[in-house]
Amino acid sequence: MQHQARKRFGQNFLLDTGVIAAIVDAIRPLQGERVVEIGPGTGALSRPLLERLDRLDAIEIDRDLAAMLQKELAPRLHLHVGDVLEFDFSKLGDDLRIVGNLPYNISTPLLFHLATHAGHVRDIHVMLQKEIVTRLTAAPGDSNYSRLSVMAQYRFSSELLIDVPPAAFNPAPKVDSAVVRLIPWRPLPHLARDETALARVVAAAFMQRRKTLRNSLAGFLTAADFAELGIPANARAQELSVAQFVVIANRVGATPANGLTSSPSR
Ligand code: SAM
Repeated sequence: MQHQARKRFGQNFLLDTGVIAAIVDAIRPLQGERVVEIGPGTGALSRPLLERLDRLDAIEIDRDLAAMLQKELAPRLHLHVGDVLEFDFSKLGDDLRIVGNLPYNISTPLLFHLATHAGHVRDIHVMLQKEIVTRLTAAPGDSNYSRLSVMAQYRFSSELLIDVPPAAFNPAPKVDSAVVRLIPWRPLPHLARDETALARVVAAAFMQRRKTLRNSLAGFLTAADFAELGIPANARAQELSVAQFVVIANRVGATPANGLTSSPSR
């Protein structure tokens, strides 16, 4: 398929047949499963997926690519032309298996978008910049443990599957890539009563990551709160587990004075 790669759509097409086969093997698609590909592009993953599936849904923003692919792979390929960031995955049903070599320019907002649809998802196998995969899989104490690590690991288990060098693509991206598997926790091991409170606490803690929590979370917790929750006030964001962030969020969400609750003022 002839196509001039469009940078604005993060187009780096997979060429390496060994990498393509390894990704499809890692996904292990089975007949009858509801597989949804994000950004099928020229079909490098779509074709081998359709060797194992009767039906594949795919979301593609580039109308020209979508038209070419539709012509070649319809009717078994069901193309949804549009922006995946606005795509309502729930309309495809439940137990979805999301796959794709993602456009790297939107990878973080896309991960947050997928998190909001986690209830409809069985698993996610996606190619991302290696740096993002390292953050998704980082443990507390690792130098790459960040806001994204906590927010993603709150919702998903994560596992790095395959390292992919720039030479596997055309055009070659400037960064290393990796395939990650994300599986939504069911049930969530640590439940935040108010996920907005969790997001705000985690953002504040990592915004000033070198500061102790006593300082970075001063607007949220008092010294007495730290003591009562058993969270060391002299720790830094990078040292806290997801479970500890949830404990903090649940305290913060319950305290009207911090402005995070929706209780009407009296
Ligand atoms: N799957 C193909 C492959 O591996 O060769 C293409 C991967 S390329 C990295 C990313 C694909 O996502 C492109 O086809 C691009 O047009 C598409 N894309 C970019 N932004 C998108 C968006 N917001 N919504 C849907 N598709 C998008």
